[in-house]
Amino acid sequence: SYAVTGATGHLGRLAIDALLRRDVPARNVFALVRDPDRAKDLADLGVGVREADYDRPDTLGPALEGIERLLLVSSPTVGNRLEQHTNVLRAADAADVGFVVYTSVLHADETELALAPEHAATEDVLQGSGVPFAVARNGWYVENYTGRLDEYLARGEIVGAAGDGRVSAATRADYAEAAVSLLTGDIADQQGYWELGGPAFSMTELAAAITEVTGTEVTYRDLPAEEFTDVLRSAGMDEDTAAFVTGLELSTARGELETDSPALENLLGRAPTSLRDAIRAARL
Ligand code: NDP
Repeated sequence: SYAVTGATGHLGRLAIDALLRRDVPARNVFALVRDPDRAKDLADLGVGVREADYDRPDTLGPALEGIERLLLVSSPTVGNRLEQHTNVLRAADAADVGFVVYTSVLHADETELALAPEHAATEDVLQGSGVPFAVARNGWYVENYTGRLDEYLARGEIVGAAGDGRVSAATRADYAEAAVSLLTGDIADQQGYWELGGPAFSMTELAAAITEVTGTEVTYRDLPAEEFTDVLRSAGMDEDTAAFVTGLELSTARGELETDSPALENLLGRAPTSLRDAIRAARL
């Protein structure tokens, strides 16, 4: 049987849907959630709902009982994640889980991206655990941008400090499907590290795609890093967050969010959803 953590979150929920679409019987699918009361719709699908809180190891052993393959969706609480993921991986080892798929970030072991060290450290724990594993090193979500479409359209511009840096973003649904492809496949073939991303675009190309799809002109305005930080601060962002967000822009400028790996397309067995289709879908 299969278990998916973070199943009340975006990616986890999409992974449950992808498992069921692959004709895995619902009785063999377990949604691991922090709050079972918010998982009624999952229970209605016939999947098992189990409480699993990364911060409460006492919940993790029972949640993983009898599970053969686990999709560990990385935690959103930056700063606490290594401990949280380690808790899950210890419990997985103790429960004799036979295969773990973990959602990491592109180039986790060789990037300056500020989000990467916790992922790389989790990968090391996984490597040391002796449990067979696959790491889905996901690129940025397209939704990081399309989720701000209304704002871009209202301003007529995207403001950033990413320069000409390109981002190999893909939809959450595509990453979820790829993770499930790893989870359900032949372990010997799937083990290891997968750099996953969609077709790359720069912020200028993103603005052009939005203009083309919506008919409203949007341009990209690139700022020097310090000016960009000032813009964020004057919009009410605290100092640390503004510095962090600026750092992500500079990582983008350096190409750290780009990959030419065909792995996502290969796992999906089709082209990833295009940027234009993702923009169209966000408008519906
Ligand atoms: P969501 O925020 O939608 O989902 C995160 C999930 O983690 C939620 O289900 C949440 O539970 C769960 N969670 C949080 N804390 C705990 C805990 N202590 N114990 C158990 N579960 C917990 O994120 P997405 O689904 O969109 O993305 C999945 C992950 O991908 C993120 O958590 C983050 O690590 C990473 N990410 C990647 C991005 C990218 O561009 N590639 C962008 C943003 C995040 P609950 O529903 O109870 O809140």
